[in-house]
Amino acid sequence: MTTRRIADLLKTGQPDETTTIQGWVRTKREQKEFTFIEVNDGSSMAGLQVVVTQTVPGYAEAIARLNTGASVEVAGVLVPSLGKGQRIELKAASVLVHGEANPETYPLQKKRHSFEFLRTIGHLRSRTNTLGAVFRVRNATAQAIHSFFQARGFLWVHTPIITASDCEGAGELFTVTGLDLKNPPKTAAGAVDFEQDFFGKHAYLTVSGQLEAEIMAMAFTNVYTFGPTFRAENSNTSRHLAEFWMVEPEMAFCALEGNMELAEAFLKYVFKHVLETCPDDMAFFNERIEKTVLETAENIINSEFGRITYTEAIALLEKADRRFEYPVSWGLDLQSEHERYLAEELFKKPLIVTDYPTEIKAFYMRLSDDGKTVRAMDVLAPRIGEIIGGSQREERLDVLERRMQELDIPAADLWWYLDLRRFGTVPHAGFGLGFERLVQFMTGMQNIRDVIPFPRAPLSADF
Ligand code: ATP
Ligand code: MN
Repeated sequence: MTTRRIADLLKTGQPDETTTIQGWVRTKREQKEFTFIEVNDGSSMAGLQVVVTQTVPGYAEAIARLNTGASVEVAGVLVPSLGKGQRIELKAASVLVHGEANPETYPLQKKRHSFEFLRTIGHLRSRTNTLGAVFRVRNATAQAIHSFFQARGFLWVHTPIITASDCEGAGELFTVTGLDLKNPPKTAAGAVDFEQDFFGKHAYLTVSGQLEAEIMAMAFTNVYTFGPTFRAENSNTSRHLAEFWMVEPEMAFCALEGNMELAEAFLKYVFKHVLETCPDDMAFFNERIEKTVLETAENIINSEFGRITYTEAIALLEKADRRFEYPVSWGLDLQSEHERYLAEELFKKPLIVTDYPTEIKAFYMRLSDDGKTVRAMDVLAPRIGEIIGGSQREERLDVLERRMQELDIPAADLWWYLDLRRFGTVPHAGFGLGFERLVQFMTGMQNIRDVIPFPRAPLSADF
């Protein structure tokens, strides 16, 4: 007899079919002559109803042990279900209890728990409806990302986790060291001497794979990264993690327009795939977590994204009939309230803002002929604000060197990055997307810590 996953049985299982399932008990309802247990194996939101009659060997003992959280294997035959909301149920022939869960001490009893509380039981919370749905959607999103890029001939490149270059210059770096922290070697000036460290230099956990992705794009034309990145964010927000995953496509022979087209096609594809593969989970989020989840997804899939320049965005914000908390003026960065106003209220759909002032963007973005703006783009989405940030990169050696000088970025550290402009340089572009932000956006989950199985944040690295 084969063991089958519950999602599969609920879809295709037929009456009279014999089968075995394995999973964890969600609920138990004892009747006079039989007991219903609902078993969930993580393959779907819905569990399978199992009917255990008194004729099953060891009935009394098994039922006593089958409380919420217990692990069980049931062999039996599928029968049409009389209960509402389910087509079939499993009539047990034999029941094997693998492990009990004491109802006095098992923390996940059948009631609503706050997400804060669930974070304190990170080893058990994936067994709840909401976290189960989140991690299935997370999985489907990851798969969609790979299939989108692979279908377009992009190479998945693995950029390093340990690096000696600080790409964003943001200073939110975690040091990686093998030095004895009680007694580190010192330079003459009294600073820690990283030349004596494992890598012979100060090394960090990467904050972005972009610069290395650019190297790979200069050989494979179209590449993407999808892997963990780290930021020592001291901000305790609902949108920041210390460890998160980033998706970073990079395309050679591509300008900003191609980059915008890719970003729009990418978001549409990923949302469509997730709606198709996880309809029950998405319906759950729409009903229980955030009422606009499905509407937002449809909006992404079906509407053509708006496109405006930063300069136009500032003009629209200055005309807005409302007071913003943060000032609006040409040269200042857009704050989340501004981004949401534009996407949510003015355009009522996703919006790509391009050509930002040079001063507020990174050194590698391509300088425009006006001398004041760079070819940057942010994709803003209703309810979330910025979801993607990208740019055409500066491919001209002299301009890049000048920019780095202006910003005091030592050319010696990035000699290889400059070399790419010496040898076979081409116009190229790419973007970065925070994977957890995307999953958060899709599911409507309020806190980013609830869309990654094991969140890393200030003072929090349990499990
Ligand atoms: P923010 O202004 O929200 O801090 P950022 O400007 O620092 O973002 P980038 O450096 O452009 O972000 O990083 C690329 C993407 O990575 C962002 O658009 C966002 O989706 C995501 N991201 C950045 N920091 C974090 C974080 N600490 N946790 C989770 N995702 C993040
Ligand atoms: Mn940041």
